[in-house]
Amino acid sequence: MSSVDQAGLAACPECDELHVRRPLRRGERARCARCGTTLYRMQRRRPEQMLAIVTAALIAFVLANTFPILVLRSQGMINEATLLGSVATLWAEGQQVAAVMVFFTAWLFPLFDLLSMFLLLLAVETGWRPAFFAPLLRALQAMRPWGMIEVLMLGVVVSLIKLSNMADVVPGAALWAFMALTVLLAVILSYDLRALWRPGCRRAVAP
Ligand SMILES: [Zn+2]
Repeated sequence: MSSVDQAGLAACPECDELHVRRPLRRGERARCARCGTTLYRMQRRRPEQMLAIVTAALIAFVLANTFPILVLRSQGMINEATLLGSVATLWAEGQQVAAVMVFFTAWLFPLFDLLSMFLLLLAVETGWRPAFFAPLLRALQAMRPWGMIEVLMLGVVVSLIKLSNMADVVPGAALWAFMALTVLLAVILSYDLRALWRPGCRRAVAP
């Protein structure tokens, strides 16, 4: 916790104006008096509720990667596509840049986000203070903008519509899991990570 936090102050991340922290009600946010930037907010959801949402999202992630996203039937041939299978196909067909981009933005970063959130929320809930708490929270904050599962979803829906003219396209079980995951991730990404610093820090300095 910085000295500004300890003094009960909040610094604006945009213009550095200092404000005295005031308690907020659930769902309220404090804005900078000078530039209007959000300083801090009282989370709508408690950590234990977030932990349940993150667990549901992890289950959706496993389902989304176990079953095919699409099943294509054309001229008696049946083709099933999973996310990682599509990455491998892209790589094999010389689209290495696209394969790497899809792998990182639609698989690795979202998985990292979910696993990190799970560990951090578990730590906050149980009072467990692992050595990796602060570095993991910083890494999560830095990587957040790179998870783009919703872009993948949009791409899948567009290809579904385009392919339906050429072949018999059946949405696979993973497509529904991906849709659920997209919604859950939107809720998870709206959670302000700054809320995790405070309870963690308080426990760290407690005797
Ligand atoms: Zn400001």
